Amino acid sequence: MAKRNIRLKTDEILRKKCKEVKEITPSIIQLLDDMAETMYDANGVGLAAPQVGVLKRIVVIDVGEGLIEMINPEIIEKEGSMVEYEACLSVPGESALVDRPKKVKAKALNRLGQEFTIVGTDLLARAICHETDHLDGILYFDLALPDEGEE
Ligand code: ZN
Repeated sequence: MAKRNIRLKTDEILRKKCKEVKEITPSIIQLLDDMAETMYDANGVGLAAPQVGVLKRIVVIDVGEGLIEMINPEIIEKEGSMVEYEACLSVPGESALVDRPKKVKAKALNRLGQEFTIVGTDLLARAICHETDHLDGILYFDLALPDEGEE
């Protein structure tokens, strides 16, 4: 495994749309391993492939409940709404309020190419939305709500 460099917010690659993974090759497996290592090293709860400069539809997430690897993830159901501060490893030191669903259901392939579905609530729902947005070139601050300021 090897840690990869995390691209920062002005990097144009973060604005590109990622391509679907057609075949799970050894280099895809290596990418998954490297993404997990990079995410844990940065103390993040999620990382999308474009953040390490690869325009493929792959994300890794760990909100403290174990590693989730998602290839070609797709959100198929959204429920409720929840406004919380959100941050991104590509935007160090910043955060903003973002309205996300309270619960999402998503499907994806695992590293064996098997389809699975996952239901996430709260932080996991937020992480799934945030990371899949990255695959379409969307960064969380595009969706930021106005901050009410000091309280
Ligand atoms: Zn992010």
